[in-house]
Amino acid sequence: MASSFVDKARISIHAGKGGDGAVAFHREKYVAAGGPDGGDGGRGGNIVFTVDENMSTLMDFRYKRKYVAGNGANGSGKRCYGKDGETLYIKVPRGTIIRDTESGAIMHDMSTGEDWVAARGGRGGWGNMHFATPTRQVPRFAKPGLPGESHDITLELKLLADVGLVGFPNVGKSTLLSVVSKAHPKIANYHFTTLFPNLGVVYVDEGVSFVMADIPGIIEGASEGAGLGHDFLRHIDRCRLLVHLVDVSGSEGRDPVADFEAINAELSEYSPELAERPQLVVANKCDLLGEDRENLDRLREHVEAQGYAFFEMSAATHEGTRELVRACAQRLKDLPPIASYEADYVPPEPKVDTSEELTIEHFDDMWLVEGPWLQRLVATVNFSDYESRMYFDRILREAGVFQRMEEMGVKDGDTVSMYDLMFEYKE
Ligand code: GDP
Ligand code: MG
Repeated sequence: MASSFVDKARISIHAGKGGDGAVAFHREKYVAAGGPDGGDGGRGGNIVFTVDENMSTLMDFRYKRKYVAGNGANGSGKRCYGKDGETLYIKVPRGTIIRDTESGAIMHDMSTGEDWVAARGGRGGWGNMHFATPTRQVPRFAKPGLPGESHDITLELKLLADVGLVGFPNVGKSTLLSVVSKAHPKIANYHFTTLFPNLGVVYVDEGVSFVMADIPGIIEGASEGAGLGHDFLRHIDRCRLLVHLVDVSGSEGRDPVADFEAINAELSEYSPELAERPQLVVANKCDLLGEDRENLDRLREHVEAQGYAFFEMSAATHEGTRELVRACAQRLKDLPPIASYEADYVPPEPKVDTSEELTIEHFDDMWLVEGPWLQRLVATVNFSDYESRMYFDRILREAGVFQRMEEMGVKDGDTVSMYDLMFEYKE
């Protein structure tokens, strides 16, 4: 079954690189040698997720997989700072869960409507104007900008609705939603018409309203992954109340009691917790019943024996829809609010493979040490914590960094610059 509804997507995000600091010197007529005036690089742009209330699928992510924020511009002479890289805003539907692809852990739940910074841009490098000292008047170096954060993430949509409609295809779910809300779901007399979940706000009374979701039809075997159902079931995960529609007209030759049991079996197969979710049962298409009310009575007896509230309705003639909507509002008053997911993602320990290359350069008494592993290390060590500083020191020592510098002639009191760090060398 080709489904055009996309509710899961894997993308990669890349925040912008920081701009490089500039090496420049002040020049003026009649001034023999000006001081260093190279400005700093701009900050790389962040990647920020933002909720777009008009979106209800992750369709936009089907073809575009890579998201890159702007780089910071390089600094330039005359103390000019480079421009900051542009933030990239990625719009997602409310209720999108953002996971770390590798571990599957939840990084964030976009259900509050607040923006979330998923990847930070790299810092801009310092221009040489920062490096002038009385003894170092001509610093011919500046710092490179740092790369931004990158991440492989998986987006997963779990819609936010108070009430989820469940039932076989064609039982009248979309019709009900269109009758009680301003939503315009597609309604047609064939199965699988609903490929997109539809959300509608149901106004009950002054100040009383709730969100109802029309979830695409669950079919038998759905929870084992047959057909559409399984993917869609995740959208009712968060519904506080389920409204289970059953067609009692017999118009499709179906048995309502068997249908009712089949759907509930699907729900518990998918998640036992979901099967326990409060549920109102609605016999729909009662307008077609005529004299023969056997189906209806049988279903009522069956359902009430299990303790469910039971309603008769005709979505087509609107008979019973007000009563149902009021009953929903009444139940919702006592139910807990929509669940949001706690982040459980723990960033992994940085890989510090000290066999990777490291460059050590010096300009008089100023030492620049650079390399990918060192950069990752500097970014994660908490320098206000003694233990962490000792750890940092040990790694550098074990990697032979200080030994190399000594062989190159580093002296007590020289300045050492390692990305964000600058310190005085002590033997
Ligand atoms: P869904 O697949 O559950 O969303 O079902 P739809 O809302 O698309 O309805 C399927 C068909 O049943 C459509 O042709 C509707 O017009 C029809 N239908 C829905 N509710 C009723 C009803 O109460 N009475 C009658 N006679 N037809 C209905
Ligand atoms: Mg439908």
